[in-house]
Amino acid sequence: MHEVDMTKCLLISLNEWRDRRDNTSAMVETVHLDVGRFTCVEPDQLVTTYNAAVQGSWLDGSRLTITEIPFIGRCLSCNGTYDPVPENAYRSPCCDHPLEEIVSGRELRIRSIDYRSDSAAALESSPIQRQR
Ligand SMILES: [Zn+2]
Repeated sequence: MHEVDMTKCLLISLNEWRDRRDNTSAMVETVHLDVGRFTCVEPDQLVTTYNAAVQGSWLDGSRLTITEIPFIGRCLSCNGTYDPVPENAYRSPCCDHPLEEIVSGRELRIRSIDYRSDSAAALESSPIQRQR
């Protein structure tokens, strides 16, 4: 149940975000999440898990939007980039070099949060970074 753990991390991040902003009246509308294809997270499943987890909480009614980040490796022989595939043990197709450097695909971070606060009643967007 990878997605359940991911959802727990996500909720912790969102709680931290709210506490840090001291904005307890914030009503989150949309959470924009970057998910790398090498994280083994199934986006649809993560959305389902998220929707179930936020029921009854302050995040009830918010929506999770996921942007998938492609899995890209760098070949250390020729310095080119490629799409690693498990069928080839993630080796580079150009030089048959083992995968040693991942350019992208391991992201799991909140890109931004769309929310409404009672005081402003305006839609604001708050980019936050969380590197794991
Ligand atoms: Zn190469």
